[in-house]
Amino acid sequence: MNRRDFATLSALALAATKLPSIGQTSPDRKPVGYAAIGLGTISDIFMRACANSSKAKITALVTGHPADKGKKYAGLYGIPPTSIYTYETFDRIRDNQDVEAVYVGLPNSMHLEYTQRAALAGKHVLCEKPMAISSAECRTMIAACHAAKVKLMIAYRIQYEPLWNRAIQMISSGAIGQLQSFQGGFYNHQDAGAWRLSRKLGGGGSVLDLGIYPLNAIRHITREEPANFTAVVSTRDHSGRFAEVEQSIEWTMKFPSGIVASCGCSYGQSGPAFLTVNGDQGYLDMRPGFFYDAPRLSGQVSGQTGGKQIDIAGNGRNPYQFTIEAEHFASCIRNDREPLSPGEEGLKDLLAIESIYRAAGTPIA
Ligand code: NAD
Repeated sequence: MNRRDFATLSALALAATKLPSIGQTSPDRKPVGYAAIGLGTISDIFMRACANSSKAKITALVTGHPADKGKKYAGLYGIPPTSIYTYETFDRIRDNQDVEAVYVGLPNSMHLEYTQRAALAGKHVLCEKPMAISSAECRTMIAACHAAKVKLMIAYRIQYEPLWNRAIQMISSGAIGQLQSFQGGFYNHQDAGAWRLSRKLGGGGSVLDLGIYPLNAIRHITREEPANFTAVVSTRDHSGRFAEVEQSIEWTMKFPSGIVASCGCSYGQSGPAFLTVNGDQGYLDMRPGFFYDAPRLSGQVSGQTGGKQIDIAGNGRNPYQFTIEAEHFASCIRNDREPLSPGEEGLKDLLAIESIYRAAGTPIA
């Protein structure tokens, strides 16, 4: 092994040991109590994530179905009947001392209202992505939380995932040289009638839900905001399923440094959920990259003898990403710190998404 290879391997080893310590609270503090709003798929995962934590705890529920879903989850997590709210009684949560934060797991177009109401009730807000369905709504949410002096975090779980952080450390340490381009995508299916296919509830198509993963990851890695966009939408399924939002969208964007990215997403395609990062001396491929279980990182990192292949399987099973995320926000609340992914981060993604739709000639929301 020559000196350059050794230096590269040392940098990678160092990167592995220097992951950011997120989610640490002092052990003598009680867990932060969260109210889960909307007891659907993602809230179910988030509640399981909190059950795995000593720093975050589900202490209240907000649901349109208190007698069945509310009762079921109250039984699972030891929540008293007085801490089960409906959408109508939600504002009474102000008087519940066991609730310090809310987790907004509702359809996209409802994030604004419940963030505003939570802020007015004096509760910190952990809001699911996309933050809202327009940049104007994002600004209103940021202002509401600021005025109420509560914290606002957007649930970008990938930003807290250890193998993603390791990949970012590798990139920062020069393992693939100067960044040149990205390719990313998230392709999936939605059944007819799903709220995600309603413009009113989803706010737009798959970019808000799925394309936001490569978009946010690229912005997070480059620390730059995209400036130039091209985009095309396409709908080949004419069954009526895509009457309100497009089936698929592909876009390109260019960053001020000259880095370019080519991305796509769909509600009607079988495809991968991935991000490829190309440097001038190597590349990294996170594939799968955006699912709930741990991602896999492969690629070629620079070395004098032509580079080294890497292939690293991450550790962690669903809901581990949500536990890290819930604990990070809990730590921010306990220690009065700003979260790594505040409302401003959600706003920047919505601004980019609006540019993508403008480039495609299709309106958002
Ligand atoms: P879901 O359909 O499974 O759950 C939505 C919940 O909202 C249900 O409990 C439903 O009863 C309730 N609800 C209240 N009013 C409603 C209405 N008018 N129409 C439909 N549902 C209504 O959805 P989900 O998959 O849990 O997604 C919720 C949010 O979480 C979305 O913003 C989505 O983008 C986000 N999400 C994030 C991730 C992630 O990995 N971070 C993954 C999936 C979803």
